[in-house]
Amino acid sequence: MFKKILIANRGEIALRIQRACRELGVKAVMVYSEADREAKYIKLADEAVCIGPAPSSLSYLNMPAIISAAEVTDAEAIHPGYGFLSENADFAERVEKSGFKFIGPSPESIRLMGDKVSAKQTMLKAGVPCVPGSEGALPADPAFIKRIAKQIGYPVIIKAAGGGGGRGMRVVHTEAALLNAVQTTKAEAGAAFGNPEVYMEKFLQNPRHIEIQILADQFKNAVWLGERDCSMQRRHQKVIEEGPAPGIPRKLIERIGARCVTAVKKFGYRGAGTFEFLYEDGEFYFIEMNTRVQVEHPVTEWITGIDIVRTQIMVAAGERLPFTQRDIQIKGHSIECRINAEDPYKFTPSPGRITNWHPPGGPGVRVDSHIYSNYFVPPNYDSMIGKIIVHADTREQALARMSAALGETVVEGINTNIALHRELMVDAKFMDGGTNIHYLEEWLSKRE
Ligand code: ADP
Repeated sequence: MFKKILIANRGEIALRIQRACRELGVKAVMVYSEADREAKYIKLADEAVCIGPAPSSLSYLNMPAIISAAEVTDAEAIHPGYGFLSENADFAERVEKSGFKFIGPSPESIRLMGDKVSAKQTMLKAGVPCVPGSEGALPADPAFIKRIAKQIGYPVIIKAAGGGGGRGMRVVHTEAALLNAVQTTKAEAGAAFGNPEVYMEKFLQNPRHIEIQILADQFKNAVWLGERDCSMQRRHQKVIEEGPAPGIPRKLIERIGARCVTAVKKFGYRGAGTFEFLYEDGEFYFIEMNTRVQVEHPVTEWITGIDIVRTQIMVAAGERLPFTQRDIQIKGHSIECRINAEDPYKFTPSPGRITNWHPPGGPGVRVDSHIYSNYFVPPNYDSMIGKIIVHADTREQALARMSAALGETVVEGINTNIALHRELMVDAKFMDGGTNIHYLEEWLSKRE
């Protein structure tokens, strides 16, 4: 096992990884920007290194500064968390070339999955079903593009090969709008992701977002850890996640889970990863793979009893997976609410000082957050300030538990989306289970 790990992230996930290190008896080096200097998880760290000013481009995305911090502190490995550099193959490569272990898959795997076109091609070859669409990136020839769209059938969606975070996508309903949409998405993708390549998919009308968590070691042992339903989204961004997915036959899930395991063994994947699918009319369609730990990993940790972050660190250190597929049992139901510093209905960010914080508690309630009373939420980063996760025997009990937990939670001084979550937990359709990816936005527009 490593003696010391550097955590190249901030906020709740940095604290989550720090906790895993402490349990493993591994020293954790935290890095921070000037905006995070006063944060408690930095003050209470074994070691902490400032890597630059507040803007992410100068700190949490600053590769030389992060690698230097690992050098001066004698860290052996770097955990990238999620976001920032976590899916940057060049970073993973530079980390390894500098003599550190990257806690994640190989740079080749990250690169393969980071380009959604090559990811889909890999999955098709490995027998994972994908959304019907263009086989590969769209060519320049307008007649060809029109022909593909006609074959797929409208509506179609134009997506950036290098896209992420719900950006770089455009739905097209008619041939008249097609070429313009392709051009605009290309231009946007080039500017935002440095890769103008786009591809085309059938736009599924009412799918659910279902994802499969996997873990693999370097010896080609791999398991899948059940599924998560992340259909409650706004602007393609997840708001609530849960597992198991309500109302989907276990047989279908088991079949797709097994396919994911076969695929990761086939391309020699190592570490934690997530296969994201759209699910419609009893069919799963792969959309992308995330090659890192995800925000919603606690849902899976709770229904399987497996510590995903701990296992990431263990397999990066060269250990074997300490369990096999047979050991994985799904137990009860878990729900996660992302707590954001924002207006609950208008979604305007609400950074600033938290004057009072009272977290919920009791059986089956977990809070992953770095905040505290008098914490200042910097305006420079993502608005998520923490997550409330609950677990209970049944979905009904988990919903009631989450309602109670949200009711106990006090955050004063800034706005949060807790009021929105409280309404959703008692919404009749959501309580029934199985709402699709458009449900939340439709619900919000009706509420106005
Ligand atoms: P990102 O990497 O930006 O998160 P994804 O490919 O994972 O992009 O898609 C994000 C979300 O966009 C999905 O969860 C879904 O809501 C929507 N989406 C993507 N592709 C399609 C599609 N073919 N049909 C309908 N919705 C889609």
